[in-house]
Amino acid sequence: MGAMDILASLSENPYFGAGFGLFGVGAAASIGRKSFQSMVLLFKRHYVTTLEIPVNDRSYQWILHWITIRGATKTQHLSVRTAFNELDSGRVKSRYKLIPSLGTHVFRHESSGTWIKIDRTRDQHQTDIIGGVPWETVTLTTIGKRRQLFLDILEEARLEAGKEHAGKMITYTCASGDWRQFGEAKTNRPLTSVILDKNVAESIVQDVQEFLKSSDWYQDRGIPYRRGYLLYGPPGCGKTSFIMALAGHLDHSLCILNLSDSTLTDDRLAQRLADIPQDSIVLLEDIDAAFVSRENARNSQESTETAFQGLSRLTFSGLLNALDGATSSEGRILFMTTNYRNRLDEALIRPGRIDVEQLIDWCTEHQIRALFKNFYPEANPTQQAQFVEGLLNPSETNRSTSPAKIQSFLMLHKSGPKEALENLHEWNKSMRAT
Ligand code: ADP
Repeated sequence: MGAMDILASLSENPYFGAGFGLFGVGAAASIGRKSFQSMVLLFKRHYVTTLEIPVNDRSYQWILHWITIRGATKTQHLSVRTAFNELDSGRVKSRYKLIPSLGTHVFRHESSGTWIKIDRTRDQHQTDIIGGVPWETVTLTTIGKRRQLFLDILEEARLEAGKEHAGKMITYTCASGDWRQFGEAKTNRPLTSVILDKNVAESIVQDVQEFLKSSDWYQDRGIPYRRGYLLYGPPGCGKTSFIMALAGHLDHSLCILNLSDSTLTDDRLAQRLADIPQDSIVLLEDIDAAFVSRENARNSQESTETAFQGLSRLTFSGLLNALDGATSSEGRILFMTTNYRNRLDEALIRPGRIDVEQLIDWCTEHQIRALFKNFYPEANPTQQAQFVEGLLNPSETNRSTSPAKIQSFLMLHKSGPKEALENLHEWNKSMRAT
């Protein structure tokens, strides 16, 4: 029997014929399904643009906020994020922010008229090790080749987040290798509330503003676009408060680097200084505490490269390299503070690394008067003079009074200048005893 005969006889067999028919339908369905899947894949590859934003990216919060104000919260599916805001009075107020829940949302982007699908997904098994939160992703999908649209959206989201924080300052810290926002944005401290000696604040503000306008000047001369400031002087005289107020005044964020952080390596520091969030001031606080000067290290038979105290894996040369490393085109404003200028290695503060040095010293007469006036605007000139005299009289005090100490005294006498003056003598005596 030839092959054709076998096929003919099988097809005549009713059981086999039905099976063969079913097989045919199944195969056709499978081929159909497969080609449909391939078509979907092909369509996705060529005609759909997606943008995936993981929770650990800086733009994640901006995008959530951007989606929220565009009405994705009109859906019934919301999640809540409770924020605690510290008011100037010290009271803590809670605020509830509604954000799109996990799942899929669709909305129309008004300026481009494009429909965008948003998928907010969470992986329960994975955690962002730094933030300690479940791993989340927001994916934006739209039809067409819309790369530029997504870039525009990211920029729009960044600017809108900035607007939401108008009058407030965001602080970033470096956590396990990346810049992370630290707490909620805080209301800016007015620059005038930090009282430094005459013209000190003004000259620094002017210098920074000049720097911010000079990117072309630096570029034309091939000089790295960065400026370093060192504020030094006794504790409690306003170094940190001034830098914070300055950042707020300039609408900048503050990026605080803790050099004693044991997870900070030379490479990580270099990366962080090259990757500062836009419009930020970098602050290296108490720079002397992070390391002993190379001179001291040599004296104590320590190697230069292990001169950093504590568990820090950062080396002194690593710090210098990071300071000299590439800076982004927006430039870099970096402040260092120390209570002990003389403990610093000269290499750290040589021009190019530190361009402006400023002593922030014990209170002068001008500062004492201004602090008193700030606390008691109702105080008359005689009361102001009495307060200044009481504090500067050498027989009463050793003249080394910090604004922090004066502030803590004035806070004990909120009822008015009269009460403060009545208690000044006693306070002076107790200060002398300490
Ligand atoms: P430093 O960084 O010099 O050690 P801080 O800025 O941390 O000092 O100041 C400690 C506290 O004292 C802050 O609460 C701040 O408000 C207050 N203070 C210090 N200096 C001043 C100042 N010059 N004007 C107003 N307040 C000040």
